[in-house]
Amino acid sequence: MKQILNFINGEFIATSRTFDKFSPLDNKLIAQVHEAGRAQVDGAVRAARAALKGPWGGMTLARRVELLNAVADGINRRFDEFVAAECADTGKPRSLAAHIDIPRGAANFKVFADIVASVPTEFFETATPDGRGALNYALRRPVGVVAAVCPWNLPLLLMTWKVGPALACGNTVVVKPSEITPQTATLLGEVMNEAGVPEGVYNVVHGFGPQSAGEFLTTHPGVDAITFTGETRTGSAIMKAAAQGARPVSLELGGKNAAIVFADCDFDEAVQGTLLSAFSNSGQVCLGTERVYVERAILDQFVAALKQGAEALKFGRPEDCATGMGPLVSKEHQNKVLSYYDKAKSLGAIVVTGGGVPDLPEDLAEGAWVQPTIWTGLDDDTPIAREEIFGPCALIQPFDDEQEAVRRANDTDYGLACAIWTRDLARAHRVAGQMETGLAWVNSWFLRDLRTPFGGAKQSGIGREGGVHSLEFYTQLKNICIKL
Ligand code: NAD
Repeated sequence: MKQILNFINGEFIATSRTFDKFSPLDNKLIAQVHEAGRAQVDGAVRAARAALKGPWGGMTLARRVELLNAVADGINRRFDEFVAAECADTGKPRSLAAHIDIPRGAANFKVFADIVASVPTEFFETATPDGRGALNYALRRPVGVVAAVCPWNLPLLLMTWKVGPALACGNTVVVKPSEITPQTATLLGEVMNEAGVPEGVYNVVHGFGPQSAGEFLTTHPGVDAITFTGETRTGSAIMKAAAQGARPVSLELGGKNAAIVFADCDFDEAVQGTLLSAFSNSGQVCLGTERVYVERAILDQFVAALKQGAEALKFGRPEDCATGMGPLVSKEHQNKVLSYYDKAKSLGAIVVTGGGVPDLPEDLAEGAWVQPTIWTGLDDDTPIAREEIFGPCALIQPFDDEQEAVRRANDTDYGLACAIWTRDLARAHRVAGQMETGLAWVNSWFLRDLRTPFGGAKQSGIGREGGVHSLEFYTQLKNICIKL
């Protein structure tokens, strides 16, 4: 049986306590994961702190940049292994992991290596009463030991989105991957060693949240900052842990994202974009669309086209080129999503397509599969319209005018992303500007430039990462004032 180990101070560490990792494809046992206890978490944090004082702490920026590029190259060299590990853990189609998860995992090191090498800090010339003046300039310094607590939906991508900039800024990290997707974080440990990253700079501790590695790490007094991606409820628990010692947090949390489709849109693009945003990665994307507001004139046509697209998605194993949709990540998550499918029916939704578990060959029957699902006929105040389901499903509702669409799209506790489909340029700017979200896409979805600010409004997060915004979290500015 495959053993997934912790990675502490450059070494792979087994523990006496393991937990099972099941394949989402067929619910078969695929690995045993070694759970880190308090002692291992403490060891990882101490190793990370020691590394700040070792060769890593004294390294030139140029050498650090070289190492980060070597890590990216190392991921690319072992590309197929990373794809296989990610597909094994999540069940997602190979095409998706090979086009998004793993290339972005590598890019996160290269992009932030470039950014730290080129971003200036500030300088002020200050007048003084004696006329001689003073010079003020700021230096960026690492925050120290960063804890990165990660989710399961895009495991390597979202983890390196934290680790890339954290290391680029000279910090050391202790990563707590999701217990559901432990493999690629451990594999990255091998790449770190191959690239020559000093011991203790990158550490991985496996386990769960409460009473396990997640809690042990976020409450550890040796951690200087915490970056977290996951559910809003977990984000609140982590903020509480961070309050002890007044440590900074960056939180990327849940969403209930809306799309607004105007009748003047490019119809085919809007349909294709909405299909992607609702169903890719089986709907397990924080930026994904779960509410679609469609201008009444094109409602029937839009619903019919989306239904056709959803029904054309083929279920299958990751390695099968025809596979358009994988399972959900776990049986537990399947139960959660199916409970919303049942709830929608009991609330009187019109199930346009889906609403249950697909018929699959016997070898996949035990997996965490659900059908892509489209509903109409429910109000904005139902749980289907308000709660994050995180599955391949969307509620479509008509609207009659722009202001109504904006008001209803904004009527949510969340504020991560939205997609606006229109050919009217003035309207696109007007509506995008009014959306209460951290990100607004016009005539696109998930079009990402890693230099731009990324994060959520309302309960979708605290802080922004991406580009220089990541430097703001992963460094502290020190002002030096020199009297002339
Ligand atoms: P989750 O909150 O259940 O778990 C995330 C991580 O936190 C896991 O590693 C888990 O073990 C750990 N954890 C749980 N409780 C903890 C505690 N008390 N203390 C410390 N660690 C704890 O989230 P998930 O189910 O893995 O991911 C799905 C969620 O993530 C969805 O809500 C989704 O919207 C969100 N998400 C947000 C973004 C974003 O950028 N805003 C991106 C991806 C996913």
